[in-house]
Amino acid sequence: MARRKFVCGNWKMFKTASEADQLVRDLRSRLSSGQVQVAVAPPFTALAAARAALTGSPIQLFAQNCHWEKQGAFTGEISAPMLKELGCDGVILGHSERRQLFFETDEMVGRKVRAALEAGLHPIVCCGETLQEREGNKTWEVVSRQLRGALDASTAQQVTIAYEPVWAIGTGKVATTAQAQEVHAQIRGLLRELGGAAAADSVRVQYGGSVKPDNAAELLAQPDIDGALVGGASLKADDFARIIAGAR
Ligand code: PEP
Repeated sequence: MARRKFVCGNWKMFKTASEADQLVRDLRSRLSSGQVQVAVAPPFTALAAARAALTGSPIQLFAQNCHWEKQGAFTGEISAPMLKELGCDGVILGHSERRQLFFETDEMVGRKVRAALEAGLHPIVCCGETLQEREGNKTWEVVSRQLRGALDASTAQQVTIAYEPVWAIGTGKVATTAQAQEVHAQIRGLLRELGGAAAADSVRVQYGGSVKPDNAAELLAQPDIDGALVGGASLKADDFARIIAGAR
């Protein structure tokens, strides 16, 4: 079954609201509406400006995190219904920076996935091994534990997965197409086990980790790579547009 490619730009903690407005305008001027689903994920403070600048565009708006509760005494946190009301289409969850720097566990990611779906947001669920784990032949043990911890039979059918080897994020080191395809195929097998044929056939599995204009087309041509989660290169409209062109 042909899955529509999905490319999302994770802006991390870059871009003020006015800078986000400019980047969205630059991106819109470079993209023709096409077969590829495109999303941008600015920081919370730039979501409203990006939403306004995206008016009338098919480019979707994603947040980079949310809390699992709808509301409450959680200073500094943002809930899924808050993001929904702001006009977000989805949310990135369980990014390795959240896991490593903010101690998010698989169980927390699972609670966030359920909260996002309940609020009507599409989750991109991130997974991936560290260099030490890869060198210790623990890649699949880690990735499968992360996904089993975050997904169940019902939620497995309703998400996008981003496989992001931690050693490839922001380092300029890209997984080889063979390394990425191998894990993507294993993820597809796990999706079948968790959510049945519907999940295995329809859930997109993005690759993330130093995706650039010059390597995107080759990665995205792999049978189980259905798109990309792009960090650094999504901050430049030209580079991001060229990556999207490579996904076609
Ligand atoms: C990311 O943070 O999700 C990412 C893939 O970053 P980069 O593209 O910069 O490696």
